[in-house]
Amino acid sequence: MRIVTSVATMQRLAMEWNRRRVPVGLAPTMGCLHSGHVSLVRKARERVGKRGVVVVSIYVNPAQFGPSEDLASYPRDLPHDKKLCSDAGVDVVFVPGDQQMYPEQPAAKFSTYVVEEKLSRGLESNSRPGHFRGVATVVAKLFNIVRPGVAVFGAKDFQQVAIVKRMTRDLNFPVKIIVAPTVREADGLALSSRNKYLSADERAQAVALWQAIQQARQAVRTSTQSIPASRLNSELKWLIETRPAARVDYIEFFDPDTLQPMAKVRRGARIALAVFVGKTRLIDNGKV
Ligand code: AMP
Repeated sequence: MRIVTSVATMQRLAMEWNRRRVPVGLAPTMGCLHSGHVSLVRKARERVGKRGVVVVSIYVNPAQFGPSEDLASYPRDLPHDKKLCSDAGVDVVFVPGDQQMYPEQPAAKFSTYVVEEKLSRGLESNSRPGHFRGVATVVAKLFNIVRPGVAVFGAKDFQQVAIVKRMTRDLNFPVKIIVAPTVREADGLALSSRNKYLSADERAQAVALWQAIQQARQAVRTSTQSIPASRLNSELKWLIETRPAARVDYIEFFDPDTLQPMAKVRRGARIALAVFVGKTRLIDNGKV
């Protein structure tokens, strides 16, 4: 397994693979890898086959963090990540530094961004303005640097993958976007690098997100009519906030294709929610 830290080297490798028609699969991550990330690697390998190469990028992208968010404290563990990637059969780990991705020297400060204008409205954007501008920009850069034929993203970040798919189509990136299902702990908590922030007590309470998704699903599936989103929202908020450390940021029901909110919830809708457990903001989503 090769570790690449320079954009120029990564691009040279990618051009060589493209020239030799070697299939390339990319799984972009922010590191502190867990089994959810490994599932992306497996999907990439399935797509590119033995002859192909699987690249995992590890980059905590400053452009997608707001000024009051956890950029500085975001968990990082490169030795652990390298071991996980090596065990998972990754060919190249691309770990660029900030100076490689957003160089300020010798040229002027970075000033070109990719903005998706429809699906980026609402949901996560209400709480994290500018977040998806940062995501779309770094994903576009990674596509140009690694030149994958397939790129794998997790359904855990549902709005992100919708935006990445749209950007890929709108800007004609020759990349197939694959979505991997959310990997969960035994009690249903979605794996996330941010789970590391939780104390044992908070970790126990964090299962509330998954329980809320299940309760919504159960309510919709046992009802003969659609249910007002406002009613479901207040029931779920109550369910979640019976845990002393949990505070709902948002709960939304929406159309999975357009991401438009649904005032009346029926089967086929999707629920997304963000909940603070202590100081840690967790997100999850699911089909109802
Ligand atoms: P992150 O490192 O959190 O930016 O995530 C990198 C990629 O892994 C994204 O496409 C995420 O959606 C995906 N991912 C994160 N957690 C999970 C999970 N529990 N199951 C599946 N994919 C995940």
